Amino acid sequence: MSNAISDTRPDITPSHTSDSVLAPLAVADRCDRCGAQAFVRARMSEGGELVFCGHHGREATPRLISLGAEVRDDTGLIPA
Ligand SMILES: [Zn+2]
Repeated sequence: MSNAISDTRPDITPSHTSDSVLAPLAVADRCDRCGAQAFVRARMSEGGELVFCGHHGREATPRLISLGAEVRDDTGLIPA
């Protein structure tokens, strides 16, 4: 009965999402550098995503942009 070609997988993780808006940062998102709550999300041109806290996000953003990454900066949401 398994005659069908199982090569065409249904949409698991669409690598070509049409929306260019990055998802908002969640409390569960942790800085890749120090593990603090993340407020900056970057999507690399290759498709990978990185999250950073406010401190490391500010530090990394210029380099990420120069690498062609899309950066969402939610540091304005950090409670003062
Ligand atoms: Zn950090």
